[in-house]
Amino acid sequence: MAAVRTLGLVLRSVEVFETSLVVTLFTRELGKVAALAKGARRLKSPLQGGLDLLGVSDIVLLHKASEALDLITEAAPRERFASLRRDLAALYAGYYISELLSDLTDLNDPHPRLFDAAVVTLRHLDDPTLRARRVLRFELACLRELGLMPALDDCAHCGLEVVARGDKVAFGLATGGVLCPECRPGQPHVATLSGRTLEAIRVLASPGNTWRDLDPSAATLAPVRTTLGNVISHLLGRRPRLLPYLGV
Ligand SMILES: [Zn+2]
Repeated sequence: MAAVRTLGLVLRSVEVFETSLVVTLFTRELGKVAALAKGARRLKSPLQGGLDLLGVSDIVLLHKASEALDLITEAAPRERFASLRRDLAALYAGYYISELLSDLTDLNDPHPRLFDAAVVTLRHLDDPTLRARRVLRFELACLRELGLMPALDDCAHCGLEVVARGDKVAFGLATGGVLCPECRPGQPHVATLSGRTLEAIRVLASPGNTWRDLDPSAATLAPVRTTLGNVISHLLGRRPRLLPYLGV
């Protein structure tokens, strides 16, 4: 049983026994872990304040390779995201990010870039004009990092380049992205996207800052919200609980 020091984002916390917590963390070094914080609810616990929901803390864990819970031995607050306390829409977005990390990642499967993307997104949820685009970008980063990114250029089935026909593109939720006209028939769960919606998803998925210039109107972002919500719902086998609370 090795002690590991890592940054961790607190995703969930459940009270157990008289004074303890079982905390689900998304850590930078170890990915998602579930850990017991003994006595964390005692008034003078050294863990107090280091296990707040949606906070980032310096965590020391006794990490167990088996199915057993890890043990949290230190938790020192590193970063709190002030906008989550002031702004309900930002808080909902924060909980949505937490839900995706919790439900799309596996235990003990580290994704440091996804951790960094989550922290950067949480840090900047205060600006309502950029918030929806930031959350959509995080969702795409999440899909890419977990190897679940839908195809946006070449047919998800045969690999040939897909050209919009009459500004309509078939997008397979089960087959993982755009489909050419030859491959579309017979595929389950196919949505029809406009060329504009597909282009908006491409812009949001691109590195750099071009996403900031994307038209932020609901006419552009609402179909993107619907499409990514459907992709993620398909992966989870249910609608994310926080999805209805996200605006565009
Ligand atoms: Zn095809």
